[in-house]
Parts: sequence; C-alpha cells; structure tokens
Amino acid sequence: MSVVQRKAMLKSEGFFPHKKNAKGTTIIYSRKHPTAKFVRVVIDSGIDNRTNKVVGKVGVKLCFVNRQKSWREITGQIFTTNTGLIKTIKAQEAAEKFVKTCKHCKAKKFTAKTGNVVCSNACWTGWGGKKKAANTTKKSSQKIVAQKKSATPQKKKSQKVTPKSQRTYPMNKSSQRKGQRNLQRFSQEILPGDLVTIEEFVGDIVATDYTGSVLGIVQKVKGKRITTVWTANTAQVPEWLLPQTNEYEAGASKSYRYKVLSRKVKWIKVV
Ligand SMILES: [Zn+2]
Repeated sequence: MSVVQRKAMLKSEGFFPHKKNAKGTTIIYSRKHPTAKFVRVVIDSGIDNRTNKVVGKVGVKLCFVNRQKSWREITGQIFTTNTGLIKTIKAQEAAEKFVKTCKHCKAKKFTAKTGNVVCSNACWTGWGGKKKAANTTKKSSQKIVAQKKSATPQKKKSQKVTPKSQRTYPMNKSSQRKGQRNLQRFSQEILPGDLVTIEEFVGDIVATDYTGSVLGIVQKVKGKRITTVWTANTAQVPEWLLPQTNEYEAGASKSYRYKVLSRKVKWIKVV
C-alpha cells in the first residue's frame, strides 16, 4: 500500500494534514463531519512525518471540539487499510448519531479518564449562581453513572448463576434439554460496514437496548460468524459476552444479540 495512494485518498475525501501530532510521529489528518456541528473526523494516517513511509494502519475516529477548543474522542479509533478506508470513514460518520448528547448544552458526551461518560464542554462547571448546587448535581449524576455501571455486572452474575444452578439439578436437566430442542432460532442479515449495537433479550423480549452505549462497526462476515470492531462500550459489557453470530435462540436465559442501526433488518425464523 503506497504512501502516494493513501495521501491521494485522504485528499480526495477532503482531509487536510495537521502540522503536529502530540502523541506520535505519524501525520494526523482531519475534516468536518458532514452534518454534525463541532464534530471532526480524525485520521491517523500511519505515515511517518519524517521518513514519509507507511509505518502502520490508518486509524479513523470522531472528535468533538469543545468550547475550550479541546478535542474529545467520542468514538473509539478503528484501524483499517487503504482498501477499507472509505468504508470506515462512512461508518464512523454514521456512528455520530448514536453518541449521547448533553441535555444542558447539546455537546457530545465522551468517556473521561475517570471512566464516567460526561459532557465534552464540562458545562456543569460553568453553571452560574448556585455553584454549590451545581456541584452536588454533578456528583449525584456521576453517582448514577457509577451505579449503572455496578448494576450491569450484577445482572451478569445472576445471568451466569441461574443456568448453572439449573444444571446442577438432575431433575431440571431433562426438562432443559427438552426445552432446547424446541428453541426457535432466528437469524438476520448482517453486512460488512454495518453499524451495530446489542440487545439483551430473554425469549423474544428485549430486556435492554444498548443503543448509545455500545457501538460497533462490522468488519467481516464469514457465514454466520460476524467480526465487529467495538468503538464504544460505556455500558462495559464484557467482550466475551458480545454477540459473534447473526443468529440467536429464543431461550429462557438472558443473552445478547446484534441490533443493526444503519439499516432496517428483520429477524427471520431459521427453519
Ligand atoms: Zn453540557
């Protein structure tokens, strides 16, 4: 993959090189998001600024430029090759819609170093008048975030424990097997480049929709197997629980399945 080709692609997509890269030696490019205000598409070209040679893959992410002109990373960086570059740019641009917005100042939210998802403008610090009141609100909202986070693993605990306890009872064993024989399987079409999130479901009921907190871009589809790059996971769903196929079984225990955000896709019964 030539440097000339990569640079030409970036230029034709409207990207301009930055003078500096605070974190490394590769050339950073960026341009405005086509529709979202204050959002920039940022590309780490993987081209070394001194040798002018390709030293790595191209990284694509979205940043929100806040009131202080600081850039906040609002989606995780996805690495790709020249071949996948345009598709990855499009997918990241589409991901913008699913990044949460501050209800006070409309800025995009990002994951701070503390792990909390907060307003890019940190607008709570500027709330005039009752500063103390503002501070308490901030703390309580952070607490809520923390509680939500601790609530998620607890859910998983019960999820793990229930089927295990069922398995230890021989009486339940046969009934469970019988049940599994009748489980209806569903599948949906998932394509490379699709923007996806996940749903936690029990049977046919969606227990939790993770739109806005778990975001991924499908990189590869091989039969039923789906390879996804997860760009955001503020719900901190463990990676091993994330779905890996385009199918699910309507069983009695909680599980996760894909939800395609970028297209309308229907679940179809597998016969
Ligand atoms: Zn705000």
